[in-house]
Amino acid sequence: MLRITRILAPNPSIYTLEGTNTWIVGEDPAIVIDPGPSIPSHLDEVAITAGRVAQVLVTHDHPDHAPGAAAFARRVGATLHAWKLDGAEHLRDGQTFRAGNAEIIAVHTPGHTSDHVVFFVPAEGALFTGDAVVGKGTSFIDPPDGDLAQYLRSLRRMQELRARTIYPGHGPVVLDAPAKLHEYVEHRAEREHQVVAALDGGPQTIDQLVEVIYADYPLDVYPLAARSVLAHLLKLEGEGRAERKGKGDGATWRVSAARECARCGKPVKGRARYCGSCSLILLQEGAGTEG
Ligand SMILES: [Zn+2]
Ligand SMILES: [Zn+2]
Repeated sequence: MLRITRILAPNPSIYTLEGTNTWIVGEDPAIVIDPGPSIPSHLDEVAITAGRVAQVLVTHDHPDHAPGAAAFARRVGATLHAWKLDGAEHLRDGQTFRAGNAEIIAVHTPGHTSDHVVFFVPAEGALFTGDAVVGKGTSFIDPPDGDLAQYLRSLRRMQELRARTIYPGHGPVVLDAPAKLHEYVEHRAEREHQVVAALDGGPQTIDQLVEVIYADYPLDVYPLAARSVLAHLLKLEGEGRAERKGKGDGATWRVSAARECARCGKPVKGRARYCGSCSLILLQEGAGTEG
């Protein structure tokens, strides 16, 4: 069995639940994932518990995960790797590290942030998810660095890894990884359904949408909810399913009018120029490069 130890950083907040989880994977040498904020008592505890450390890995450059990493790596004489972080070596998708006798693989999973990476130990079915999946509640997608369309692709990629256990950046260990990932996919689909249903009532601002969709929630969550609704609207806009008028907070959003196939006049999905059958015919006729 691979030794996996959690050291909880003392930085509780609305974003971090009870604090950031720093993970120590394997031993002699160990790998440390997300040293967390620069809190000396926390980094002392991680250093003492970890013993010899070969690598320090960071899931993403957010203030609750990354600021302690560079100094910690120097202190324990380990190399530092992240997708994008000052003082770190740039991680590649699929790059492999060794923790004791186990392999740990970096998987680029943009969405929560563009630089987000998760770490997978195939031998244990263990997935270290940072903020891409958290132990309680949902991952926060804050545009423009946060991107919901990318996030959904990353969720599918995590599902394909067939992990058993999730070791999240916040909250408790998740013993049924497939169920949790499925729940996350369903939650976003349900939210999108609510956004589209609310837009059916006519053009609306984000604040109006939040009041409808989050009617049962306390007002404190509305600013965060507004960012999340914006993430959904940007995804729908990218798919040609919603459009906005105006700029900033005053912008109104509405469902995009159905477009017609440029060849046969039937309705087409999204921003395509031709319907499915006409695309196929054009492709067969060798005119597929047009449009
Ligand atoms: Zn984060
Ligand atoms: Zn976090």
